[in-house]
Amino acid sequence: MYKLSKRSLERMAGVDASLVKVVKRAIEITQQDFSITEGLRSREECCVNYGKGRTAAQCTAKGVPAKYAQPNVSKVTWLNNPFKSKHAEGKAVDVVPYPVDWNDLDKFHAIATAMKQAAKELGVKVEWGGDWKTTKDYPHFEV
Ligand SMILES: [Zn+2]
Repeated sequence: MYKLSKRSLERMAGVDASLVKVVKRAIEITQQDFSITEGLRSREECCVNYGKGRTAAQCTAKGVPAKYAQPNVSKVTWLNNPFKSKHAEGKAVDVVPYPVDWNDLDKFHAIATAMKQAAKELGVKVEWGGDWKTTKDYPHFEV
């Protein structure tokens, strides 16, 4: 049986209590160890994320100060409104396999299986980014 690291627990500070409960149950039943990379996202972090892969003009058009623009790095978010992420409301967590391997989707699926089982047991409605039709977001779970 796995255990959440202190860092993972700290990253869930400010996250919706029912979602935290699901994560804590999931770590008990998962076949794949995992860690939490992100929970509640500050306004500053929303700006940093949105600026990745976008020009100053694209940023300011959405209310993100031009200083956050980093057009030469890879895009990390496809949000229409940079501040309307479930992370900004504390209603999402990003969960990755431990040790992390971005190429092994089976590991993300194993985590999702545990998260869905935990959500069902606790009666919490959780959506997995890996089930999204258009842009899949495998680490992402939201309530
Ligand atoms: Zn996410």
